Amino acid sequence: MNTVSIAEIRDKVLKGEVALREVVADYISNIEATNGDINAFISVDFESALTQADEIEKKIKSDTAGALAGMVIGIKDVICERGKRATCASNVLADFESVYDATVIEKLKKEDAIFIGRTNMDEFAMGSTNEYSRYGVTKNPHDLTKVPGGSSGGSAAAIAANMATVTLGSDTGGSIRQPASYCGVVGLKPTYGRVSRYGLIAYASSFDCIGPFAHNVEDVARVLEVIAGFDERDNTSSQTAVDRYVESVLNPEKKIRIGVPEEFFSDGLDPEINKGIRENISRLESNGAVVVPIHLPHTKYGIAAYYILATAEASSNLARFDGIRYGHRADKAAVMEELKAEENALRKEFAESEDELAKALARIDSALIRLYKKSRTEGFGTEVKRRIMLGTYVLSSGYYDAYYAKAQKVRRLIQEDYKKAFKEVDVIVTPTAPTTAFDIGSKLDDPVQMYLNDAYTITANLAGICGISVPAGIHSNGLPYGMQFLGDAFQETKILNAARLVELLEN
Ligand code: GLN
Repeated sequence: MNTVSIAEIRDKVLKGEVALREVVADYISNIEATNGDINAFISVDFESALTQADEIEKKIKSDTAGALAGMVIGIKDVICERGKRATCASNVLADFESVYDATVIEKLKKEDAIFIGRTNMDEFAMGSTNEYSRYGVTKNPHDLTKVPGGSSGGSAAAIAANMATVTLGSDTGGSIRQPASYCGVVGLKPTYGRVSRYGLIAYASSFDCIGPFAHNVEDVARVLEVIAGFDERDNTSSQTAVDRYVESVLNPEKKIRIGVPEEFFSDGLDPEINKGIRENISRLESNGAVVVPIHLPHTKYGIAAYYILATAEASSNLARFDGIRYGHRADKAAVMEELKAEENALRKEFAESEDELAKALARIDSALIRLYKKSRTEGFGTEVKRRIMLGTYVLSSGYYDAYYAKAQKVRRLIQEDYKKAFKEVDVIVTPTAPTTAFDIGSKLDDPVQMYLNDAYTITANLAGICGISVPAGIHSNGLPYGMQFLGDAFQETKILNAARLVELLEN
C-alpha cells in the first residue's frame, strides 16, 4: 500500500478494502524496521497518527473528509508544529517546542493529512548531504553508504523508504530537488512567495521555500494545491491565484516547448546522467514536445552569488539565537566564574600600574557578551559557524560593495537570463545534480566541493522561479538520478505537467 497515491488509498478506504489505520500501521512498521539504519525520522508520533487515522476514516466514509484524507505526512524539523519540537537539527534549538502551527501545517490539518513525525535535516538547512545534523547522518535508502542529499535528506529518504506518503522539505538553494534526485523521488520547489513561510525557521529569507516530496507527481501537485496561497502573516507571500495543479497533472499537455540550456550539460556532469536525460528529452520530443536550445549565460556565477547572499542573510537571521532571546544558553554561573578568574589574573599581572590595569580590564567582555559568545559557540555546529562568519564578512563595511552588492547585481542578471528564456519556452530542462549520491564523509573536508554540488539547483532560488526534480533513470552504479524542470514564476502547472510526461515515459 505504501507506494500508491492518496487518491487510491482513499478509494480503497471508501470501498472498505482497507482501513486507514492499516495504511498508517504499514508506514509505522516500515519506520520501525528501517529507521534505525536510515535515520530519516528524528521523532515519531505513532499513537497520534493511528488516532488521526480512525477519525479521518470516519470522515471519508461520511464524505466529509478534506482533500488530503488518506495521506500520511512527515515534516522537516525546520517547520513549526504546535506542541512539537522544532530543532532544525541544531543544539541551539534542541529543547525548543513550538507554540504555534506554521501556515502550511494549519492548511494540511484542515485537509485531514495524518502527521507521523519529524524528519532529519542539515543543521538550519545548511548543507547538501544531511551530515550536519545533531541527530547524526541520514543514509540513502538505496545504498546505506551514500548520502541522501540535503538539506532535506530526511524528508527524501523517508519517501524512498516508504515511511510516509508525502513529506515537506525546504529549498533555499536546492534542498528539495537535490535529495529528491539522490533518493529517486519527486520533489518540488515552488516559486518564491507561492507558499507561506510563516512558521518556517529562517535560513535565507529571500530564498527559502517550503515544498513537498512524494513518490509521484500527482501527490506533489495535490499537496501544493493545499499549501499554496496568500497568507497575511507572510508579507512576501503572493496574491496570485492558486492554479488547479492536480487537474492538469491528470491530463497533461504533450505539446510543450522545452528549453535545453547548454550551460547545464557541461563538463562537471556525469556522462551517463547526461546521456540518460538527453534520451528522455528525445522521447518527450517524439511524443510531441518542441525542444529549443537556449542559453543562460550567467549560470556560472550562480554558486558564488548564492553563497554570498545566502550566508549574508543567514548571519542576520541567526543573530537571534543568542541564548537570551532564543536558543541554547550557556551555563551562566560558569561564565561568571570565568570572567572572575580572568579579572583576578589581570589584577595580579598589572598590580604595579593602575592605568594599565584599567585598560586591561576594559578589554574583558561584559558578562552579557561573554554569555552570547559561549552560548553560540556551544550551540552551533561547524558549517553553521562557517556561514555566519562568511555572511558577517561579506556584509562588513569594507567588503559590502565588493561582495554583497555585486552578488545582488549578479542575482538580477540571472533573473533576466530566465525571464528572456521563458519568453521562448514553457519549461527548461536540466539535470538536478551533477552526479548520483556520493559516499558519506567524502566531501566533508572540502566545503567548496560540497557547494559545487548545488550548481544546477541554485540559480532557480536566485531567480525566485519554480523547479521540480523527477526520477529520470538508474545509473549503472545502481543509484537513481533525477531531471529538473524549471518554470517561470507561478508556472508550477507547467513544470508539474512536464514532470508528469516523464513519469509516463516509463510505460
Ligand atoms: N546546499 C545549499 C546550502 O547549503 C542549499 C541548502 C538549502 O536549499 N536549504 O545552502
